[in-house]
Amino acid sequence: MSSTDILMKPLVSVLQMLRNRVISTEELLHRTYTRINETKSLNAFVSVVEKNDNLEFCIKDDRSSILKGIPFAVKDNFSTRNISTTCASNMLRNYVPTYSATVVKKLTDAGGTLMGKTNLDEFAMGVGTVDSIIGPTRNPWQYDFQHPNPDDWYIAGGSSGGSAVAVATGASYFALGSDTGGSVRLPASFCGVVGLKPTYGSLSRHGLISLVNSMDVPGILARCVDDVVFIYNILSGNDPRDSTTVQGKVEKVVIEENPSVKDLVVGIPKQYHGPDVSPEIIDCWKWAADIFSNNGAKVVEVSLPHTQYSIVCYHVLCCGEVASNMARYDGLQYGHRSDGGFTEEMYAKSRNEGFNESVRGRITAGNYFLLRRNYRKYYEKAQKVRRLIQTDIKKVFDKGSGKNSGVDVLLAPVTVSTAPQYKTFAQKTNSYRTVEHDIYTQSANMAGVPAISVPVRLSQAKLPISLQLLASNFNEGTLLRAAKFLENASSFQHPKFDF
Ligand code: GLN
Repeated sequence: MSSTDILMKPLVSVLQMLRNRVISTEELLHRTYTRINETKSLNAFVSVVEKNDNLEFCIKDDRSSILKGIPFAVKDNFSTRNISTTCASNMLRNYVPTYSATVVKKLTDAGGTLMGKTNLDEFAMGVGTVDSIIGPTRNPWQYDFQHPNPDDWYIAGGSSGGSAVAVATGASYFALGSDTGGSVRLPASFCGVVGLKPTYGSLSRHGLISLVNSMDVPGILARCVDDVVFIYNILSGNDPRDSTTVQGKVEKVVIEENPSVKDLVVGIPKQYHGPDVSPEIIDCWKWAADIFSNNGAKVVEVSLPHTQYSIVCYHVLCCGEVASNMARYDGLQYGHRSDGGFTEEMYAKSRNEGFNESVRGRITAGNYFLLRRNYRKYYEKAQKVRRLIQTDIKKVFDKGSGKNSGVDVLLAPVTVSTAPQYKTFAQKTNSYRTVEHDIYTQSANMAGVPAISVPVRLSQAKLPISLQLLASNFNEGTLLRAAKFLENASSFQHPKFDF
């Protein structure tokens, strides 16, 4: 069997092959390293774990573990013991953590093999994976591997773009990303993979370098819904090291091969039908609503009246938390330190050299919003609007409170378009791009609810179009069932890229 076939297989099948010794873990590892090499020009990895270290790990493992040496990748803002964790920033260029994030540890404890750390926008601020110290990540779709054109390629989406590309190309079976305002769902949608943003608190944030603590959540990228379910079941649950995680046990999600949606009420949020959404996406959205309806689901239009304020509100809250989170990188306690000068000068110089322009911009904006004279006008007001957005979403999921409620899942676009070309995207500022592409994703983070991006079909330009599903808090079971149904109905094909 060719490498492409094996590396693109669903987790359950490859685990079966490993169990039956059709392929050895070492062989799988060799092939994955070859794939990482073949796809190097996409710039998906910030760093790759030494092959010998991983071979040693494979040989030691007794193969009775759940993941049996399955290769996976992790966004470079999750701490990894003895492996550098840069956040794609000069500030942490030389940072080597002494511990691993809980989610990473759970995966290695389950027998997974960490292949490397994936690229992101600096400190996960962005929607493109273009603002990174190692340069932008490229989307494998419509990319000419034989004769790459330096000016003509599509962005991967961000900020977990490296993870999305690693999964799309078979350089890892699944990957971790982080989703604060859409950073798992957006790159998943541009790269044609599945991206889950779980309920806030269902996966531990311990060891995930903070962006916006009240919204950050580790996310899972994989090529099919079943693989996401498999990994979600390994990762979800309480962590004594993160007091915001769920108390008690989280039920394992089990999804049938061909799940029914007859009992589901699917809500179509009318405010997500914005003027900027491309006609191809609208068409795909309508098709999906019909598919749910033709298969027995009740499809209803619902209203989320405060949607229009959401992205601005997100921006104020995000910058406020960023300003406070980034204060620790002063060159003294943490991060890059520049030489010379008085202490104040050293702080300023270190931060100026350590952070890129968009991170500095968000820190400045955040500090402005938090000034005593501005606090009420901006930060406090944004908190109130966040509550209204949360309430809108909570209400539609409430059972038995009349019209505009009783919905099980919401069906919506992920973003306004398919992946843009780098040359046009690069001309816009980081904040403009965020407003453009996170318009329909960040509400889920502000409300805390789970959401998923599922690839559905190809656009005329042969780029993936994906749709988003949202459910109520801790209702991953229903969310993933609806996602699996949509996946089955779409029969989206993962290409064998011509490496
Ligand atoms: N794109 C959003 C931002 O830049 C969200 C980032 C994220 O989810 N990490 O704020």
